[in-house]
Amino acid sequence: MPELPEVETVRKGLVRLIQGKTIEKVTVRWPRIIESPEVTQFQTLLIGQTIEDVQRRGKFLIFKLTDVDMISHLRMEGKYEFYSATDNQTLDKHTHVVFVFTDGTSLHYNDVRKFGRMTLTEKDQSLSYKGIRQLGPEPVPEVFFLTPFQEKLRRSSKAIKPLLLDQKLVTGLGNIYVDEALWEAQIHPETPANVLDEAETECLYQAIIDVLGRAVEAGGTTIRTYANALGEAGKFQLSLNAYGQTGLPCSRCGTPIVKIKVAQRGTHYCPTCQVWRGR
Ligand code: ZN
Repeated sequence: MPELPEVETVRKGLVRLIQGKTIEKVTVRWPRIIESPEVTQFQTLLIGQTIEDVQRRGKFLIFKLTDVDMISHLRMEGKYEFYSATDNQTLDKHTHVVFVFTDGTSLHYNDVRKFGRMTLTEKDQSLSYKGIRQLGPEPVPEVFFLTPFQEKLRRSSKAIKPLLLDQKLVTGLGNIYVDEALWEAQIHPETPANVLDEAETECLYQAIIDVLGRAVEAGGTTIRTYANALGEAGKFQLSLNAYGQTGLPCSRCGTPIVKIKVAQRGTHYCPTCQVWRGR
């Protein structure tokens, strides 16, 4: 599943490839990908719309068009592929939406699992879309602040990992980066949030910003060859310290990393650096 850094890489690729292009035709081949409006209207409304920008909020891509916003969530396996006018286009059973531009280039939305969704909203109304409205701040110091983060942690007795996965305190931590941030902050993933002291929550706050910032810079990780907007596998890989490192020595203390289940998610941590304590 793409996490925030991977989606950001896709966004940058889309900006580079389709910004300024005008849609000539849209073909929806699997209607359930389109959440709203209904498919014929979706196809009609997009004709003549120019891609002014592609933005991102959490893992939602927001295509800013002339008169509407188009929200796209890739979910498990969604991918965009760009074709120049002379490319041999491969339409297969996983190609569900095809956008053809007036210059002859096109953008395909492929999705093996068909869980991805697209929605049109009125212009500049995408941020009030239900899935987006409830998201916590983006994990950057300009909008994600220490004090409210600490206050919310103090008021919760939930285990820290599921609380961070919930996206309400801060958005962008999926299963990979939450394990990395907790390793960096030396916090056991099952620690109740209100047990953490101020120094620990500040350390966690910094770790979240650091880990996601580095991952965005690296272009996301390629755990299962995740293709970027160009259709080629991501070239960069963030070196991971906890996620997927089961049995390998912790790079801080040498203890083998262990894997457990926390809230049904495979969870990796160092039993020496990240000691559990409850109340
Ligand atoms: Zn360790």
